[in-house]
Amino acid sequence: MTPLAEVLVRRIRADGPMTIADFMAACLGDPRHGYYTTREPFGRGGDFITAPEISQMFGELIGLWAVATWQAMGTPASFILAELGPGRGTLMADALRAARLRTDFVAAARIHLIESSPRLRAAQAETLRGVEVTWHGEVADLPGGPAIVLANEFFDALPIRQFTKTADGWAERMVGIAPDGKLTFGLRPAASPLAGGDGPPNAAPDDIFEVSRMANAIIGQVAERLAGHGGAALVIDYGHPGSAFGDTLQAVAAHRYQDPLAAPGEADLTAHVDFGALAEAARDAGALPRPLVTQRDFLMRLGLRQRAERLGRDKDEVTRMRIASEVQRLADPDAMGTLFKVLAVSSHGLALPVFDDDP
Ligand code: SAH
Repeated sequence: MTPLAEVLVRRIRADGPMTIADFMAACLGDPRHGYYTTREPFGRGGDFITAPEISQMFGELIGLWAVATWQAMGTPASFILAELGPGRGTLMADALRAARLRTDFVAAARIHLIESSPRLRAAQAETLRGVEVTWHGEVADLPGGPAIVLANEFFDALPIRQFTKTADGWAERMVGIAPDGKLTFGLRPAASPLAGGDGPPNAAPDDIFEVSRMANAIIGQVAERLAGHGGAALVIDYGHPGSAFGDTLQAVAAHRYQDPLAAPGEADLTAHVDFGALAEAARDAGALPRPLVTQRDFLMRLGLRQRAERLGRDKDEVTRMRIASEVQRLADPDAMGTLFKVLAVSSHGLALPVFDDDP
């Protein structure tokens, strides 16, 4: 058993089974044994690789999108450029480098990062050397003013709860202890997963329905500020457009899937993002969500191919092959291209590049 598994077994013996959300939060964020507190998850030697770590072009194109969004906002002389869960800080560094051509954008941008892991804050400071950065633990701590908010593979790390319909009504999937002393999943009778309702109307027995209260609350806070101060948010993640059923809780270590209960604190735990729920929470908070776009379409419309061509010009064959393979990994349907989706949310009355462009 991992050290965190021992802690969790003791906690469950004392307090009873825990929700999947509490389990996820402990595995990822426990101050002593949590995954993001203790491990270096990103990149080839880590457990998984994210789009900004695959290619500099990803952050660069998002930087160009941010410049165009800032122009649509009326080029405010000061605005907040925020990122949620920046990992190693690579996306922000690439975005700022690509935006350098617009010196007035760079001068206007106040960089704010939302990051809970002290270890990753240090990594971000290292990557963003020379840039003035302010860190916060929560979106609610961001100062006022117009904002552009970025989040790549952040929402998939937020805790979810799982509900399932049984013959006796809804039940919640919990983490408890098996007779052999190991962690195991079980069910506990529950009220409806949706506040006040009967749960999703088309649920069949044994369907699993996932809810992330934290994800909905965070996008709600972002949307409220956008509605009040103006601006836009870009949420990039893997997930589904909403009202989908299925257990999407997954654990990854060393680029392989494993049982989510096998090694608490030593594997990354994520769940698919319910973009429908995020859009609804954003709308409820007074902002305008746009229809989902695949990562492929988003990057292509921002000129991924042209960017790759420019980057590869006058380079040797090996470099050009590497760039071509990065384009494939980011945009191909059998890689990240269609599994990953982009949700844009903004204040009303803003014409967002890509999302509101004429096709
Ligand atoms: N965006 C980066 C990293 C994604 S991993 C990339 O694409 O490479 C998820 C990131 O979110 C990590 O930096 C993690 O520490 C942070 N994170 C997870 N839960 C958080 C929370 N509740 N509050 C703040 N940051 C969180």
